[in-house]
Amino acid sequence: MLCLALLPARGAPDFRSTTAPNGQQYVLLKNVARTYGLAYETPRKNVITLNSRWTDLEFTSGSRKLTANGLLIWLLEPVCTIRKRPAVDLEDAQLLIDPLLRPDEYLHQNGYRVVVLDPGHGGRDPGARSKSGREEKDIVLELAAQVRKILVNAGYRVYLTRENDRYLTLDERHTKARKWKADAFISIHMNSSANRTSCGRETFILSASGHQSTNDQGRPDSSTRLSHPGNRHDAANVILGYYLQKNMLKTIPGVDRGLKRARFHVLKNAPCPAALVECGFLSNPEEDRLFAGASYRRKAAQSLADGIMDYLSAVQRAKAAQP
Ligand SMILES: [Zn+2]
Repeated sequence: MLCLALLPARGAPDFRSTTAPNGQQYVLLKNVARTYGLAYETPRKNVITLNSRWTDLEFTSGSRKLTANGLLIWLLEPVCTIRKRPAVDLEDAQLLIDPLLRPDEYLHQNGYRVVVLDPGHGGRDPGARSKSGREEKDIVLELAAQVRKILVNAGYRVYLTRENDRYLTLDERHTKARKWKADAFISIHMNSSANRTSCGRETFILSASGHQSTNDQGRPDSSTRLSHPGNRHDAANVILGYYLQKNMLKTIPGVDRGLKRARFHVLKNAPCPAALVECGFLSNPEEDRLFAGASYRRKAAQSLADGIMDYLSAVQRAKAAQP
């Protein structure tokens, strides 16, 4: 992952949070740096960098965009300024930064053998459709089958929520994952936008309770406060999502739209660490053309399998590191 730096004591580290006038708890980025033994670079323009030999975290004042070793991760709340000093929301420190920097602390209780792949849509629900007529439901089914092949060859047990072009309700998808005792659940999708220039890769994990989803506009509503079964895996979700997004960008490079948060049904109810990947835009002519090629689809499947295996290996390492 990023780096283990100087390990604080077991459990969530004491970040010495500050309470803002609105009641929200923040942690100064200087304290984050100190907690992990990272060098704190004096802000240049609006950018604050925390780094070590292995880790590079780049925050921007007023923005939710965090760049972690070159990868875009959306914070729960924008970086704010407390008495002229940059700070992050306490839950960004606890639920995002700490799991990224100390994955072993969170993964050692998890399993690493059973993977459930969920090809989105199916049957009467085609999902996105490209101008040339290719449908999301067909592409993601093929990707899932190829990912399964790679993972089975590597010794993992893999199930698909659908094996063919049939309609599945959203509840059937997470119910199957529960029945099969999934250790990781990955829902595979292709993106679409009314704006044909939109392109790139993005990975979603479940929104944290009390915070808006990445793409939410306007004021938070009551659903923001709810906690879901999937929130039990908040920390592991971050690590799984990070590896998926990282490997997609490595093997099928494109615009990095980031690791994002959403309250998608399959993520809310997932019985294990879960993520939903959007591999590319069928509405974008260039990405549609790329995904029309069998060798490109094979590369996309390889990138997803690599992301999943990176996560499962991290779980295995965390277990081995247990005293
Ligand atoms: Zn979809």
